[in-house]
Amino acid sequence: MQYFSTNHQSPKVDFKQATINGQAPDKGLYFPEQIPVLPKEIIENITSYSNEEIAFQVIKPYVGDAIPEVDLKRIVNETINFDIPLVKVTDAIYSLELYHGPTLAFKDIGARFMSRCLGYFVKNLSKKVTVLVATSGDTGGAVANGFYDVDGVDVVILYPSGKVSSVQEKQLTTLGKNIHALEVAGTFDDCQQMVKEVFTDEALNEKLFLTSANSINVARWLPQQFYYFFAYKQWAPKNNPPVIAVPSGNFGNICAGILAHVSGLPVKHFIAACNANNIVPNFMQTEKYEPKKAVATISNAMDVGNPSNFIRILEIFQHQFVNLKKVLSSCSISDQETKDTLQKVYQTERYLLDPHGAVGYLALQRYLQNNPVEKGIVLETAHPVKFYDVVEPVIGEVVPIPESVQQQLLLEKKSTKIAAEVDLLKGFLLSL
Ligand SMILES: *Cc1c(COP(=O)(O)O)cnc(C)c1O
Repeated sequence: MQYFSTNHQSPKVDFKQATINGQAPDKGLYFPEQIPVLPKEIIENITSYSNEEIAFQVIKPYVGDAIPEVDLKRIVNETINFDIPLVKVTDAIYSLELYHGPTLAFKDIGARFMSRCLGYFVKNLSKKVTVLVATSGDTGGAVANGFYDVDGVDVVILYPSGKVSSVQEKQLTTLGKNIHALEVAGTFDDCQQMVKEVFTDEALNEKLFLTSANSINVARWLPQQFYYFFAYKQWAPKNNPPVIAVPSGNFGNICAGILAHVSGLPVKHFIAACNANNIVPNFMQTEKYEPKKAVATISNAMDVGNPSNFIRILEIFQHQFVNLKKVLSSCSISDQETKDTLQKVYQTERYLLDPHGAVGYLALQRYLQNNPVEKGIVLETAHPVKFYDVVEPVIGEVVPIPESVQQQLLLEKKSTKIAAEVDLLKGFLLSL
């Protein structure tokens, strides 16, 4: 499989080069030259396949011969070695719990896959690789955990000071070893901007081998398709294709879902559920894409004012808005609505959502009100305990903290504070 850049100025590369580069040299995102179609037989008999077999079949065409089959199978098996259950909440709404991985967030899947691919590729490189990542919350922890102690790889994580939850902050600042946390006085967009600028600094890139672990990296983005198939496997025998609501920020997750759909996964409709950062909801109304400065919300992992991956969604539909509109809707949910939903679903269904899941839940509920024959799935992207500072006051109860998180909360935070200036980041990278 070859990947082209969405800016069309860089040469095509294979999966290995796309993973190592992260972003294309022309600042575009890599996109597969063809979208593979999965054998019908797998979809029709999905319940007779193991998750490992499904995931391998899904990813194999994208990896091509960049990784031998035995190694790819091992990487896939290690990536998905935890539960991804589809849980019934009401007769019409199911929750796909993506938070049973090591950092209690869906990003574990992409981060685990990418770290193992990169670990495989760097074995044959002479230089050390530095993975650079900007996080609005969950990416940092998942990437830190995925790459912890991987030989030949340093990880530098930028996060907006005071804008991630305390559990999230601990997850990315307490590991040490090859994991370095930079606490930036600014927003997530500032962090992302700094990372983007560093990647395009030629002098620096001659000295260092830099790559990204943000969802723009194909090795993080593509494996996110897996759990859409796992959801369907748990759904298939009973129902018509589901409506799927995805809490969205940088739009990597939902873009992977749409890709899975184009490859043959039956889905009735996708809903991109956003918080107050409503760039895509506005676009779906007006067809005008107008990035804005991110605003802070209680679903902070989705506080993104210029969602990087949206360009890939446009690419899937070859920039044909009419076709996109048939598959995707988008809406914006306020913090108050998020809290009300969290509270109500807990009270009436005894199901505890996290703020991101609550945004998705309400978006789905609204859609189903207008389409009462349909049923749907909300992707529950994080464990509610990661946001206990938001969740507990809303439900008036304490959320039990899993053992693994409890231990982490006791560890000492180790971060380097810096202003949102790219030169400071460059200095730090050169000092490693
Ligand atoms: C990152 C994240 C999102 C948004 O995912 P994107 O792929 O950036 O759209 C949603 N919920 C949680 C909990 C996240 O960590």
